[in-house]
Amino acid sequence: MSLAERSARERRLGNGAAVVDRCRRCAIGATRRNSVYGEGDPCAELMVVGEGPGETEDRLGRPFVGRAGELLERMLLAIGLARESVFICNTVKCRPTLDDQGKLRNRAPEPGEMANCRPYLDEQIEIVSPRILLALGAPAARSFLGPKFAITKQRGLWFEGPAGTPLLATFHPAYVLRQTGGELTAVKRLVWDDLKAVRAKLDERPASATVQPDLFGQGL
Ligand code: URA
Repeated sequence: MSLAERSARERRLGNGAAVVDRCRRCAIGATRRNSVYGEGDPCAELMVVGEGPGETEDRLGRPFVGRAGELLERMLLAIGLARESVFICNTVKCRPTLDDQGKLRNRAPEPGEMANCRPYLDEQIEIVSPRILLALGAPAARSFLGPKFAITKQRGLWFEGPAGTPLLATFHPAYVLRQTGGELTAVKRLVWDDLKAVRAKLDERPASATVQPDLFGQGL
């Protein structure tokens, strides 16, 4: 990857973040404190897509910086990836909230909110053009694969994501954090299987990186 290409991608992502920050397509554009565009290596081989920003992310304007983020970082490190080496974002760029007696609580993004944000996500995928997309949790997976996607049955399988990018879904780290005892052990094992599948796919050399051997000798 040339330096010029890297800077071009950085510039385009910066422009995208500015557009998202001005966006008011949804009501949550007015209730959030900061937009959470996403961050990471503009030339990342892996793009991680979560559901939507929570309270800490909304406050800091960065994705996955709360407890779920800490676990995500440990998950990535377990397959040899530093947080900075991947690109991390969400299906929606503003924190979806509901007003619970004057206190804002997190809620799942609505389909209309995901649809409004989708062009921003598609543009991020187009700019970074990762080799692999990892969807965290059912809402993120459904945003790519449709409402029938069943996380318990279909996690760990490879699908074709946007722009033909191989896509795999696993349990959301926040879901893992809610488990205890035997369930926790079982879920951790499944997530580890999924992470190993991501590692194995990353280790397959892309066709563009393989050098054609000199099969036929000089001059042919
Ligand atoms: N959960 C998500 O889905 N995304 C974040 O950025 C943080 C927590």
